[in-house]
Amino acid sequence: MTSPAEHRLLLDGESVSFREGETLFELARRHGDAVPSLCFDDRLEPLGACRLCVVEVEGQARPVASCTTQAADGMVVRTMTEALERHRKALCDLVVSENPAGATIDPLRGSASQELAALAVRYEADGGRFAGARSGASRTDDPNPMILRDYDHCISCYRCVRVCSEQQGDDAITVGGRGFATRITTEFEGPLADSACTFCGQCVQTCPTGALADRRALRHADAPGELAATRSVCPYCGVGCSLDILTKGERIVGVQPAFDGPANEGALCVKGQFAWEWVQHPDRLATPLVREDGELVEASWDEALDRAADGFREAARAHGREAVYAVASGRAPHESAYTIQKLVRTCFQSNHVDNCSRA
Ligand code: SF4
Ligand code: SF4
Repeated sequence: MTSPAEHRLLLDGESVSFREGETLFELARRHGDAVPSLCFDDRLEPLGACRLCVVEVEGQARPVASCTTQAADGMVVRTMTEALERHRKALCDLVVSENPAGATIDPLRGSASQELAALAVRYEADGGRFAGARSGASRTDDPNPMILRDYDHCISCYRCVRVCSEQQGDDAITVGGRGFATRITTEFEGPLADSACTFCGQCVQTCPTGALADRRALRHADAPGELAATRSVCPYCGVGCSLDILTKGERIVGVQPAFDGPANEGALCVKGQFAWEWVQHPDRLATPLVREDGELVEASWDEALDRAADGFREAARAHGREAVYAVASGRAPHESAYTIQKLVRTCFQSNHVDNCSRA
């Protein structure tokens, strides 16, 4: 058996190997990560829209977008010349002119929300000679309680539209208009809740400018303390998506998906992405309650468990043993799942046990 022929090209003067189908952007990133981009997201088909990832390829009259150019045997590629950096600075100024506030966006807005800000610092970009007219039509009036649509910060990279279509399969948002009338919109320009949006939050997490943001996280923007991220597992269903819980001091201030999470690879559903505030909601039960004369009153755990046991016994006596049914959490550890089925089977002699992962 013969091994496949090795492919090689010259990257910034160094002979490097590449895989069949690998783009120049991916190759350059494997060798240093210095080539910038704003429209690139690992999970999406490359678009080549922002042009910041341009590189020089010997024999080509003009720089090419490295994210849409596949590596080929014998290519001579330069990623970091003075001319390229001048070109990128001009492009960055052009982009920043669309979003003058880009450099000050709060990291709570989403995982990628600092990308433009970082490039604005790197290229000392402030919009320069391009400052003036801007595209986009802000929809901060969208009444949904989860996603802020602050298109004054939009740079038309279309990552939100692409992630919604390619990753989520929802096609809830699209690009409308041309030139300075270009805007991100829904069908019939309506609110997100009237579209096919499932509020997965993927668009929020891919937006490189913070034009899209978690409204709930933004409520904590001024909370004291350093922002910290702690890797955890979503407790809502049996999939067990990996996520990073954002905190300031003792307070949870947001959630971002883990892009290296084995179960979800950067995706979350509406519960994992937006239902984190309930953890510290003041209405959460902090003590058992039992009903006395129709009213719920606080009780000890012993009292509440005795009352529950009496209720189960009475249901089984009045309606038969199969009147008792248990639904365990899909996130329960094996030991807890074993214990609940044991309880139902041996104490109530019922086989009615299930879990939410089957829903
Ligand atoms: S939240 Fe999800 S479904 Fe809704 S627009 Fe964003 S990516 Fe699409
Ligand atoms: S809202 Fe964000 S992700 Fe969508 S096009 Fe604008 S800048 Fe890009």
